[in-house]
Order: sequence, then structure tokens, then C-alpha cells
Amino acid sequence: MTNSSRPVAVFDLDNTLADTAHRQRFLEAEPRDWNAFFAAAPQDPPLAEGVALALRSAEECEIVYLTGRPARCRRDTLDWLAAHGLPEGRLYMRANGDRRPARLTKLEILRELADGREVRVLVDDDELVCQDAERAGFTVLRARWAAPSAALKDAQEREGRT
Ligand SMILES: [Mg+2]
Repeated sequence: MTNSSRPVAVFDLDNTLADTAHRQRFLEAEPRDWNAFFAAAPQDPPLAEGVALALRSAEECEIVYLTGRPARCRRDTLDWLAAHGLPEGRLYMRANGDRRPARLTKLEILRELADGREVRVLVDDDELVCQDAERAGFTVLRARWAAPSAALKDAQEREGRT
């Protein structure tokens, strides 16, 4: 059972906690190879800054993971979180086949979480997600510790794929 009196700290996964650089080549291919991109996610190295922040946040907050990865990656993602010592927390993923931009799907979940709870912070590397969350009144911390990927960004915003 979660203790609903605790505030929530919401963490993105790709390029916030997990370094996707080694699999971005699958998105730079023509056509993009989404299956290979997601299949390689278990090999992502953790991003030390993000992991440290999640561990610190867990002292006061309930941790929630909010990712654009599709639901079919749930098992791999939970295993990865546990393998790298991340705090336990609910994992919200994109429904299989949901191609809406990340900023829409994520804001929807943030609003659900904020209904009756304090959402203390959203930690995410996606500038459009961050902007929309701030505009909606959420406190945002921009994860700037991973190398930006033009291919991934384009995929998140235009294709609604991650
Ligand atoms: Mg991200």
C-alpha cells in the first residue's frame, strides 16, 4: 500500500534515468526500427545524476515513473529499475498503440496524480513535456545530464512513439 500523505516525485526514464545513446542508431535508420530500439533498452546504462536524484527524492516522496515507452516494455523496465537500485514506484507507460505526443500523454497522468496528492516535481529531459507541465502549474526539473538526441526528440513529438 502506498502512503497517500506523501508527496509524489515523478521521473521520466529515457535520458533522465536511462542512457539511450547506444540504441539511438535504431531511430536514425530509414525506416526507424522501433522494435530494435525498445528491445535494446535493458542494456541502457543508468544516468548517475538521475539515479541519485531519485534516491534522494525517495526519502520524502513516493516515486512514480512516467515514461513514453509502450506498455509491452513493462517487464524489461521493471527489471531494469530493480537491477540499478532505483526506488520502488508505480510505473506509468504509454498504452500499446497510443501514438499521441508524449507531452499530452504525460500531462494526462500528471493531472491524475495531482488529484488529491501533491506532485512535488517532474524530472524529465523533454523540453516540450517540461514546458507543458510548467504551464499546467507543475514544478519541473529538467534532466540535462544526457546527450540530446535529435532523432529521439523528433520521434517523441512528431510520431508519438516513445
Ligand atoms: Mg526522456
